[in-house]
Amino acid sequence: MTENIKKIIEEKLTIITLPNKKKLIEEEIIEGISYKDGHIQISLFANKDNIEEIEFVGKLIKKELQNIEGVISVTTVLTNEPNKRETNNKTEDKKQKIQQINNVKKIIAIASGKGGVGKSTISINLASAFSLIGKNVGILDADIHGPSIPHMLGLKGKPEVNSDKKIIPFEFNSMKVMSIGFLLNDEQPVVWRGPMVHSAIKQMATETDWGELDILIIDMPPGTGDAQITVSQHLPLDGTIIVSTPQPVALNDAVKAIGMFRKVDIPIIGIIENMSYLLLEDGKKEDIFGKDGAKNMSEKEKIFFIEEIPLDKEIRESSDRGVPYIFEKRDGLTKDIFLKAAKKINKII
Ligand code: ADP
Repeated sequence: MTENIKKIIEEKLTIITLPNKKKLIEEEIIEGISYKDGHIQISLFANKDNIEEIEFVGKLIKKELQNIEGVISVTTVLTNEPNKRETNNKTEDKKQKIQQINNVKKIIAIASGKGGVGKSTISINLASAFSLIGKNVGILDADIHGPSIPHMLGLKGKPEVNSDKKIIPFEFNSMKVMSIGFLLNDEQPVVWRGPMVHSAIKQMATETDWGELDILIIDMPPGTGDAQITVSQHLPLDGTIIVSTPQPVALNDAVKAIGMFRKVDIPIIGIIENMSYLLLEDGKKEDIFGKDGAKNMSEKEKIFFIEEIPLDKEIRESSDRGVPYIFEKRDGLTKDIFLKAAKKINKII
């Protein structure tokens, strides 16, 4: 940052007064200031309770800084306010987190480095497979970019709240279902900032009346950005399953997702390769996206390879009908694969 501009920015910030009459710089709101080639970026701390106020502060800052000579743009970004009660002691921290979702024995995140690889499809069919092998299952759809679980389970509407102020989840074949999609209006644009994402997801996880669950499956937002890291750090995950298709472009992103989960100390249960081959009517297999991509990657990364799921027209059709394939099908290769995957995961967790 050139010293001159830096000085001017700081001077301008010192004159901003907030609606509560306090000076901006006296409140611990500004996380950082950066300036490059005419572009100023100010990061502001926010939490789930003060997002609107901080957005307003952002507007005040923009107004004050945008007329500085040589400045082309002023952007403000909201970052997650550090939780002052959080301790650096990981074990203590984990204990606190685990207590947050009572009566839920295991929590598994289904994640992918990339959207469109079938993460939600795997989430509902794995959840259904767990249900078929006798587990009490919950599904939390945390995919803020495109919550598709309501559509895949034919569920609609807004959840109600019980007398303990807990959200009553929807039910599908005795599985408890909560989705961020239930909380959004159809016409509402989904523009999420970091703190909003994690607080919305955490709230759904901890304030839903799940009852007694053996397994809660969380359909994570795709990608490896701040949102995913924060969600992973704020939920008491027992492990994660990475979903990828066999193509190099998906695998590269899956490797990034693996790196991210390792960084935040979330155990990786294994990898599921989706759309591994096209299952033809006569039972033959066609490797349309390449062969063994995820299997080879799992060997390289020393991660357990759970199963490969075929690209099967019936999976897509049943999702669109709003019934998981696993529940619709009496038998069949793909159903067996999902059941095998659930049993393998059950042994690991
Ligand atoms: P993501 O959650 O990764 O964005 P989805 O689960 O929404 O991906 O899947 C994207 C599309 O691909 C959906 O229409 C879904 O029905 C279809 N799909 C996913 N996996 C399969 C599969 N194994 N066979 C056939 N269609 C699939």
